[in-house]
Amino acid sequence: MGLFSKKPPCPICGGKISWFLPTKIEGEYICDTCYGKLDIQTDKELNLTMQDFKEYLMFYDQNKLLKDQFVISEQIDFGLWDTKIIFDHQNKLFCMSKQPDKTVFEGKQLKSFTIKEDSTPLFEGSAAGIRRYASTVTERAMAMAPQIAQFAANRRMARTLDRLDDGKLNNSATVQYFNSPEPFQAFNVELRFDHPYWTVLQCDMDGPRFDNTHPDVNSYLRSYQQSINEIEKLVAALKAVAFPETAEQSAGLGMVGMGALHTTMAPPADPIEEIKKYKALMEDGVLSRQEFETKKKQLLGI
Ligand SMILES: [Zn+2]
Repeated sequence: MGLFSKKPPCPICGGKISWFLPTKIEGEYICDTCYGKLDIQTDKELNLTMQDFKEYLMFYDQNKLLKDQFVISEQIDFGLWDTKIIFDHQNKLFCMSKQPDKTVFEGKQLKSFTIKEDSTPLFEGSAAGIRRYASTVTERAMAMAPQIAQFAANRRMARTLDRLDDGKLNNSATVQYFNSPEPFQAFNVELRFDHPYWTVLQCDMDGPRFDNTHPDVNSYLRSYQQSINEIEKLVAALKAVAFPETAEQSAGLGMVGMGALHTTMAPPADPIEEIKKYKALMEDGVLSRQEFETKKKQLLGI
């Protein structure tokens, strides 16, 4: 088939197929309008059959109803790529976009969420509880103060040397940039769903950066605090749409939250059933393996 050969119409809507890199499903070309409706997890997109795609379009039409009723009551910015998440608190809906133009999720479809600073958990939430862990970022940033002072002193020295021979700025000294890594690089946000087309949605929100010519611990901590404020808004909004009944446990570290977690669950019956419940929480990323093991031993009385 040549580049200009006539392509058959779109098997879904009968529309015109794009001449430029049209998408194929099971060997058939799909028009851009139909394919443009697809907003599902990337790995699920790979093996899509024509039947799957037709079923998806039915889901899409259903989801369109949620899009139409969506009233943006809160918008949270996160990420380098201008990612937004919008919430409709009245209808308990949210959407990863500026406008409800992508898949709209119902709060009850969110199974759990995790927010990490690199790989260290900061927040974990599910119907079992919202937990906040203590962060060491502030301490680690403050511990960099001597290193930053040394960098500033070296810079001043280089400039002084530069002026030494004739009193003018000759820019003879090589420019020094502060390139020590920050205490962490990104907040990793992970949402887990009970949904036909989404199991997990991950996105990063860049952590604060040191200015590479005038690094300063205080300005780093100020922008860190701004990010934390934004993250707290996100957690509160996710809780409001998905787990409105859930208690917040700001205790965070290790077993402190576990007692509170237990009280939100049914009274202990069969220890094996209890262990299964906690195992599911671990698999969902709500509990660490260590917390699970501790709880297991406790339940088995060993
Ligand atoms: Zn079409």
